[in-house]
Amino acid sequence: MSQLSSSGLPQVVWFKRDLRVQDHAPLSRATASGPTLCIYAVELEYWDQPSTSDRQWQFVRDCLLSLDEQLKFLGSALEVHVAPVIEMLNALHLRLGQFTLHSHEETGGLWTYARDRAVAAWCRDHGVTWHEYPQNGVVRPVSRRGRRSRDSWDAWVSAPLEQLVKNPDWLQPAVEQSVLLLPAGVKTDELPCPGRQSGGLQPALENLQSFLAVRGKGYSANMSSPLTAELGTSRLSPHIAHGTLSLRQIAQTALRAKNIAPRGHWHNQLHSFVTRLWWQGSAMQSLERHSDSELRARVQLMEQLPRPMDAARFDAWRLGRTGWPLVDACMRFLHYNGWLNFRMRAMLVTIATHTLALPWRPVGDWLSKMFVDFEPAIHYNQIQMHSGMSGNQVLRIYNPVKQALDLDPRGEFVRRWVPELAAVPDEWIFMPWAIPETLRAEFGLIGESDYPMPFVDFEDANRAAKAAISELHYKLGLTAAHGFNERSRQMSRGRRTTTPKPPNEKPFSQPTLF
Ligand SMILES: Cc1cc2nc3c(=O)[nH]c(=O)nc-3n(C[C@H](O)[C@H](O)[C@H](O)COP(=O)(O)OP(=O)(O)OC[C@H]3O[C@@H](n4cnc5c(N)ncnc54)[C@H](O)[C@@H]3O)c2cc1C
Repeated sequence: MSQLSSSGLPQVVWFKRDLRVQDHAPLSRATASGPTLCIYAVELEYWDQPSTSDRQWQFVRDCLLSLDEQLKFLGSALEVHVAPVIEMLNALHLRLGQFTLHSHEETGGLWTYARDRAVAAWCRDHGVTWHEYPQNGVVRPVSRRGRRSRDSWDAWVSAPLEQLVKNPDWLQPAVEQSVLLLPAGVKTDELPCPGRQSGGLQPALENLQSFLAVRGKGYSANMSSPLTAELGTSRLSPHIAHGTLSLRQIAQTALRAKNIAPRGHWHNQLHSFVTRLWWQGSAMQSLERHSDSELRARVQLMEQLPRPMDAARFDAWRLGRTGWPLVDACMRFLHYNGWLNFRMRAMLVTIATHTLALPWRPVGDWLSKMFVDFEPAIHYNQIQMHSGMSGNQVLRIYNPVKQALDLDPRGEFVRRWVPELAAVPDEWIFMPWAIPETLRAEFGLIGESDYPMPFVDFEDANRAAKAAISELHYKLGLTAAHGFNERSRQMSRGRRTTTPKPPNEKPFSQPTLF
């Protein structure tokens, strides 16, 4: 970050995934430096990427309308350009002459990284100073280990929030560039998302407050089951991903609640929540180092796993027709709501990549499109880890029958989201393939309302997947690879097997979650 000027030049704040006015360093510093214009670029090429979707845009659109209201309250408004950023900068240069640009550093995917490099080149060519400010506790340049200690993150969290100067001097947006320009949609999604969370400051504050006042009381117990997680976790992820509230604001609020809570259950729940906020920052720090995580396996050799694209299997998985009721219920819940809890996201990935032997990239792309909270840093970390691409020491392949028995024992969630199975008795609700042929019609499993059989036998498929991984680990000179096969016979919850880490490859930094 270069020195701030006090030359009276126009100051332009470029909003990205930081759609708020509070605790916003670029806005604070720009308003302290001169007359300030607030801009946002709707980049249609970004919205054309395979990881993006209209459900995400609708959330962002809510946030932009809310941001505009917040700015209007301060005496300004948001200027919108439906254009590539370079085109927007050229237009601003023509209109304002020389200016200073302010934005947050963005830890995103390869597309936004390339876009930011183009912006840096444009600024150099046009003599424009671009101040970039860190966010989410991420430190640039990246350290050799690409990780940040918890202590330094704690110090970052406890720093005071950024404050706006009193009575800022605003440059008003061009009338024809108001939020009225925001497109109603940016692409046509294959699936609607009627249960999508609303974006904007108010819903974010409501989520935070209700979580800290009531919903979070059973956080640890509620987070694993799709039945209880829907209300039992904070549901702040899309707000964090798009910056409706800053990570520091959320962490400070939670820490204040933790500090006044007596030692015991509630104190521990808050501790667990703040730890997850740290993981978020940690994942972002890690993406700074592994910026090509959306394209390349962390351990290249794992790309040799036999996982060819099989369109029938892929469609069955992504459309919730695999024949494993909990898997299908979770996928359909995700279609509808644009959100799913951690454990079930992990299960969807392991079923797709290990059990159905599908390639990890299209699996990752489909899920990123479905997630309103798509955050490249967390997403690709998790996709690589659960698909075995990261050389992780612990490999879990979630058994959908065991998970269902543990997390949805009465089949409530499954019956709600897979109505074809509504009449199936408890005995077979999680294993409809085992229903005797003579009884299927009695439970409504005929004709159009039929429910598919799984493509593969779960046990056999996983044994094969683990054997293939063992073979690659063996090639890497690892000795404990047989552990996969021995343990694959165990019907344990979220079965665990361990192998030593591959030589010269770092295992994932993600702490264990259970
Ligand atoms: C395959 C897979 C893909 C995922 N993709 C995303 C994604 O694109 N965006 C996303 O926000 N989360 C992702 N997650 C992590 C996690 O599932 C979500 O953060 C969580 O379900 C969001 O709900 P919440 O805000 O109610 O979570 P809470 O439990 O209330 O957590 C609060 C916040 O902590 C952070 N957090 C929680 N878990 C993790 C984690 N394991 N690693 C890093 N940060 C975490 C998130 O910012 C979250 O909003 C993914 C997990 C998996 C297994």
